[in-house]
Amino acid sequence: MNCQLCQKELDAYRNGKLPGDMMTQVESHMEACETCSGIYRLLELAETVINQEKELQPDPFISTRIMARIDNLEDYGYKPATAFIRMLKPVLVTASIAAAIFFGIMLGNLTRPATNKETIPVELALIDDATIESVNILSNE
Ligand SMILES: [Zn+2]
Repeated sequence: MNCQLCQKELDAYRNGKLPGDMMTQVESHMEACETCSGIYRLLELAETVINQEKELQPDPFISTRIMARIDNLEDYGYKPATAFIRMLKPVLVTASIAAAIFFGIMLGNLTRPATNKETIPVELALIDDATIESVNILSNE
């Protein structure tokens, strides 16, 4: 029996699943070997801790106590902002989409050739703003 074999069989040894002669071999090796008996003790300790954790029951009053704590927070002036955020979300989404479109147009304009910049469409140049927006038309009637 060497250490490697002993450590491989430790789990089965602990659960009593080894054949009789292997049990005695592991036992006698651990009596002689400090390392393997140390590992065995660690395994036992881990098992104990795990079993203790399994026995822990969730506190049935935990939710009640948490809710009470939240109520206290509200008493101290803490206002949950969830309703406000829920209302604000669609607005923010719309605003960010609008901003994205706006910046897209801006970028498009920036990359446009500079020679195009000052040209006004002929149709627009022909429109006489003065007559369209004249108040005189209204006052003559
Ligand atoms: Zn050993």
